[in-house]
Amino acid sequence: MTVLERFLKYVSFETTALKERDDSCSNPLMLNLVDELVKELLPLEPEEISINKFGIIDCKFKGYGEKNSVAFLAHVDTSNQASGKDVKPSIIDYEGQDIKLSEGRILSIKEFPSLKNAIGHKIIVTDGTTLLGGDDKAGIAIIMTSLNKVLKEKNNRPLEIIFTTDEEIGADAEHVSLRLLSSPYGYTIDGGDYRFISIESFTAYSMEVSIQGRSIHPGSAKGKMVNAVSIFTEFHDSLPKFLRPEYTEQRQPFYHVCEVKGCEDTAHASYIIRSFDEDEIEKMIELAKFTAMRINEREGYECIHLDIKNQYHNMKRVIDKYPEIMQEVEKAYKESGLDYEYEMIRGGTTGSQLSFKGLPCPNLGTGDYNCHGQYEYVDLNEMEKMVEIVTKLMEK
Ligand SMILES: [Zn+2]
Repeated sequence: MTVLERFLKYVSFETTALKERDDSCSNPLMLNLVDELVKELLPLEPEEISINKFGIIDCKFKGYGEKNSVAFLAHVDTSNQASGKDVKPSIIDYEGQDIKLSEGRILSIKEFPSLKNAIGHKIIVTDGTTLLGGDDKAGIAIIMTSLNKVLKEKNNRPLEIIFTTDEEIGADAEHVSLRLLSSPYGYTIDGGDYRFISIESFTAYSMEVSIQGRSIHPGSAKGKMVNAVSIFTEFHDSLPKFLRPEYTEQRQPFYHVCEVKGCEDTAHASYIIRSFDEDEIEKMIELAKFTAMRINEREGYECIHLDIKNQYHNMKRVIDKYPEIMQEVEKAYKESGLDYEYEMIRGGTTGSQLSFKGLPCPNLGTGDYNCHGQYEYVDLNEMEKMVEIVTKLMEK
């Protein structure tokens, strides 16, 4: 089966991630794809295969040669920002033309300059009503195609294939059974442009802001009322205004308020805080705490309470300790005659968490673009190049 055939098969499964659950994956429908993958893995005669209660597959293959085992990871679920039901992909010979999708949507180079690189290639697009699911079924198709190739030729090192569920709701890394891991490091195949190797992610914190006001009849409130909404806006405005996602790029950090609810009595706001630098993010947290402390001092009671939690760290801290990981990747690109560049992710990956749990995991591309929406497309040529790279990484 070609990588395209596999890809088309995997996107026919609806696997939208929903709300997190304790006892299973967020949407039982994604288990249909998990079953399909198990059905495809078993005939390849793995040494060991297990599926945990969240539907995460860990499958090990015996290898030849001297190299250590290496893991390859991809996720079966798709984002809930667009429907993933009845995906109708079409394959287009792309020559730079506008592609008319339904509902008046047009996929054009003007809006999406990344399409320039796809001229002369076949691309796979949606019909405009759903996402495509290339994130991350392109990753699964690349891994499965490469795996079949190396196993058939008995040319593989020991391999561990991990297909996770609920990556899109950030619940996959915590559900991976760490005791099963047999590889010192791995690769997530979950990026866009095939040239990009990602070894840096944000360090990430969540900040829940709870405000307890003092509600008094407005007619007799003078000197007594503490309006929780006003306290929130004061707190928010005291954080550096231009350190927000809409004003920052590249290495710049931000505070992002994602949700606010409130009335004069109580208010609640959810923030995320992101930076590539541990010292910088600590200073940002200090500033938020300092601001809350000053407001509390003035009001004479704890009207603002902050609950700040780490979500993940910049994986570069861990990956840097294993120079052989990047040596292997660079060798694979060079031997395939392909260019590469290092890219930092303004976000997190499964690897950001797994790197700190003992499985350092840089992220590699899949050829998938505009993920999480109706304009998503996959460049088949890039997907094929990634099969070449991943095959090299799997070889003995
Ligand atoms: Zn993904």
